[in-house]
Amino acid sequence: MNKKVYDIIIIGAGIIGGAIAYKLSKESDLKIAVIDKESEPNKHQTGRNSGVIHSGVYYPKDSLKSKNCINGYNQLLDFLNENEIPFKITGKLIATADETEYSEMERLYDNAKSVGLNVSYFDDKQIREIDKNLVSKKGFFVEETGITDYTQVLNAFIDLSRSNGLDYYFSNEIKSVSIGKVDTSIKTSENKLKTKYLINCAGLQCDRVYNICTGNKSPVTIIPFKGEYFKVPENSYSTDIPIYPVPNPNFPFLGVHLTRMIDGSLKVGPNAVLSFDREGYKGFSVDLNDTFKIITNKALYNIAKMYSSTVIKELLKHSNKKYFEKNVRKYWSNFSKEDIIGYSCGIRSQASENGNLISDFRIENFENQVHVLNAPSPAATSCLAIADTVINELKFIN
Ligand SMILES: Cc1cc2nc3c(=O)[nH]c(=O)nc-3n(C[C@H](O)[C@H](O)[C@H](O)COP(=O)(O)OP(=O)(O)OC[C@H]3O[C@@H](n4cnc5c(N)ncnc54)[C@H](O)[C@@H]3O)c2cc1C
Repeated sequence: MNKKVYDIIIIGAGIIGGAIAYKLSKESDLKIAVIDKESEPNKHQTGRNSGVIHSGVYYPKDSLKSKNCINGYNQLLDFLNENEIPFKITGKLIATADETEYSEMERLYDNAKSVGLNVSYFDDKQIREIDKNLVSKKGFFVEETGITDYTQVLNAFIDLSRSNGLDYYFSNEIKSVSIGKVDTSIKTSENKLKTKYLINCAGLQCDRVYNICTGNKSPVTIIPFKGEYFKVPENSYSTDIPIYPVPNPNFPFLGVHLTRMIDGSLKVGPNAVLSFDREGYKGFSVDLNDTFKIITNKALYNIAKMYSSTVIKELLKHSNKKYFEKNVRKYWSNFSKEDIIGYSCGIRSQASENGNLISDFRIENFENQVHVLNAPSPAATSCLAIADTVINELKFIN
C-alpha cells in the first residue's frame, strides 16, 4: 500500500471534483490528488445528463444557483472554445401547455429578465416557425442556452490537471478517515493517503462520505430521483432548439423536455421518479439501505401531504411511455410512444433536510474539509463557478 502525502485530496472525479482539480492545478503548485471509487470517469450524473448549458432562468436572483449558473455559463463557454469541445448556442423555448400556466410563465420571464438574460415572448405563429409540430400557444425564448457533451468537459479537466501534475486514483473507494493534529489520514479500498485538506464531491454518495469524513451525521440526506429519457428519430424535429415545459414551481426539476444532443440524437426526458437504488441504472433495482433512507424520509411525506397521492404516483411511474406521451404532446404533437427507439437514464442527487427538498446548491465546511452537499442541475453548467466557490472556502479555512 502507498502512503503518499498531499495538501488537498478531492473525493469524487465527477464534473465538480474535476473542475476544482483543474482550477487548483492551474492556480497553485499544491500537491493534490483526486480519488474515485469507479474505474473510470462519467459513470454517474456527469455522464448521464441532458447536455444543456443553462443560464439561470428559474433561480431567485440571490441564490447560489443563480449566481453560479450565470458565472459558470460564461466560464464554460470560454473553456469549450479554448479546448475545442463541440457546443452550440441554440437558445431555448419555454412553452406553456395552456392558459393555467401563463402566470408561472410570466413569473419566470420576469425572473430571467431580472438576472440579465435576453428573453422575448413568442406567440403560436413564432412557435410553429421553430417546428411545425409545436402546439403551444404562448411561450418565451431565452437566447442564452446551448448544448454540449459534459463527458468531454470532464475528460478535458482530468487530462489538463493530470498534465499539470495532479494524481488521480480511480477504483479507490473512501473507506475511513481519521483527523489528526497535523494531517488527515485516509484509507481507500486500495491505498493509505495523508492530506491537509479534504474536499467531498461524491455526488449521490456525498452524505455518506460526509459521515465518513467528519464522524458526524450529515445535515442532509440524499434522495435519488431517476430521470429517464426516450430516444426518438433525429429527423422528427427540425431544429436544435430545446423545448422546455413550464415547470411545477414546487419541485426542483424542469419537466420532460425535448432536447437535441450535441451528437445529433434527439431525446425526450427526463421525468423524475423515485429510485430505490442510488446507482441503479439497469431496470427497476432496489438497494435495501437506499430504500430505507427513502421510505423514512420526511420530505416525501411532506410532498404527499401538500400535493396528494397523485404526485407520489407520478414519482413511482418508472419507464412509463404513456406518461411521456401525455406530457410531451402538450407542446409537441409529433411524439408518439410507438416512435421510441431507445432508452437511457441518469439519477439526480437531490439533498433533503428537515423534511424539505433543498432547492439551492449547498456547500459546507467542517474543520479542514469542504463538502459539496447539493449540486444537482444546473451544476454541470455551473461547475467552474462552483469550483471558485469551493476554493474560496479553502482559503477561508486557512
Ligand atoms: C438526468 C439528469 C439530467 C441533468 N441535466 C443537466 C443539464 O442539462 N445541465 C446541467 O447543467 N446539469 C444537468 N444535470 C446535473 C449535472 O449532471 C450534475 O449536477 C453534475 O454532473 C454533478 O456532478 P458531480 O461531480 O457532483 O457528481 P457525479 O458526476 O455524480 O460525480 C460524483 C463522483 O463521486 C464518486 N464517488 C461517489 N462516492 C464515492 C466514494 N465513496 N469514494 C470515492 N468516490 C466516490 C462517483 O464515482 C462519481 O464519479 C443533470 C443531472 C441528471 C441526473
